[in-house]
Amino acid sequence: MSDLIDKINQLHEKSASLEPTEAEREDYLSQLGEFTTRFIEALPDMKAYTADQPKPGVMGLSEKKQSFEALLELYDREVVAKGIKPASGGHLGYIPGGGIYTSALADYLVDLTNEYVGINFSCPAGVAIEHELLDWMKSLFGFPKTAVGNLASGGSIANLIALTAARDKYEIKNERVKSSVIYLSPQVHHCIQKALRIIGLEDVQIHYVELDDKSRIDSEDLENKIRTDKAKGLNPYLIIASAGTTDTGAIDPLIDIGDIADRHGLWYHVDAAYGGFFILVDQVKHKFKGIERADSIVIDPHKGLFLPYGLGAVLVKDKEAVYHSHVYRANYMQDAVAEASAAHPADLSPELTKHFRSLRLWLPLQLHGIEPFKACLEEKILLTHYFRRGLKEMGFKLGPEPDLSVSYFWYPAEDENEFNKALLNILHQDGEVFLSSTVLNDKFVIRMALLSFRTKLETIDKALKMIDRALDQLGANR
Ligand SMILES: *Cc1c(COP(=O)(O)O)cnc(C)c1O
Repeated sequence: MSDLIDKINQLHEKSASLEPTEAEREDYLSQLGEFTTRFIEALPDMKAYTADQPKPGVMGLSEKKQSFEALLELYDREVVAKGIKPASGGHLGYIPGGGIYTSALADYLVDLTNEYVGINFSCPAGVAIEHELLDWMKSLFGFPKTAVGNLASGGSIANLIALTAARDKYEIKNERVKSSVIYLSPQVHHCIQKALRIIGLEDVQIHYVELDDKSRIDSEDLENKIRTDKAKGLNPYLIIASAGTTDTGAIDPLIDIGDIADRHGLWYHVDAAYGGFFILVDQVKHKFKGIERADSIVIDPHKGLFLPYGLGAVLVKDKEAVYHSHVYRANYMQDAVAEASAAHPADLSPELTKHFRSLRLWLPLQLHGIEPFKACLEEKILLTHYFRRGLKEMGFKLGPEPDLSVSYFWYPAEDENEFNKALLNILHQDGEVFLSSTVLNDKFVIRMALLSFRTKLETIDKALKMIDRALDQLGANR
């Protein structure tokens, strides 16, 4: 017995450093505080992109213990300094957000207290926060209170939850899979096709709908395709629209598609991961009309509400459809789920020990109120117009008037694709501001996506100057 106790005491000694002393904690926090100040102060002048790669192995685990100071230095040198700077206001590629500071504070609190919210039993107030936020989103998008939802890690998992619900509602399984049809825009985010494979629907028929000249679903073509497929004895069951496509920011005709879904009895899903929160802006709110008709929607607070990456939301009207795949009771959970309580988030998600990620949205909303978020979104729309005006003056061709804050442009040249690729290459080498590109009807175009809360008038002026320099470098005859 005393041997056993000795051994336990030894192991205790050996593992004691996992609980730092008060002095150590203060030292960590003060170093972190200094890092924070330096980082945020450096951001406005930091390049938004550098092509440098970390040397192979530089991030490897070392044999010796490292000091926090050395690791912060390594983080700064290798992580922060290389690749895209997602925190920079100059990040205008893909879909940025910025990452607000008060959300990082929430993450710290959550990690410190290690609360988790899969089931109500573990953290009733944390679960209540998730439900409050989902209720708020339901009211924003005109969903009934009886709808259910979940806060997932991002839009991809949120979409997966919705598509699983649609699959289960329409019992798309076994021999039905091959004759079942889903209608997609070719502009849909690729996480949709990916989710379909993951949920066993690789063999379902995907029928791509034609687009109009603003890259929106052509609802007449959609209607025709459904009629034709029905006449052939196929089983159309799902339409997916986007409220803000990733490529061009287009909002599909949500009302017309809702009518079609109603008429044919199809599940109507709207992916609003990028665009959804623009519904908060009075000037563009009307563009989302019809979204309330959807059976399910996805919205990403880590895009439209500028949160650090790691939060996407799904709302679904049919609770049973979501429960079908996600409610499972294991014996070892009997105490945890016995009590009558609010819906357990784990019953609406593949996750069980679910990160208490709602706090990273709740805390900022409580601290700042909603107004700064609204203003920041509207600012992004106006900056998009300002950017386009500047580009036009420089001789660029512009994509259509954008619905929201994603747009594209290209410089007219003899070999247009080659010229614009070369141009983007120079912009990436410069890196002061980061832009990405896409291909639309075989045409290479440069994209601008304005959604970082740190993107300001100065940022766009900087971008225009950078582009002007690049044109000179390419010898554009202006
Ligand atoms: C970003 C995005 C997604 C994917 O969401 P993640 O949060 O990156 O997983 C899905 N749909 C649209 C429209 C998006 O913009």
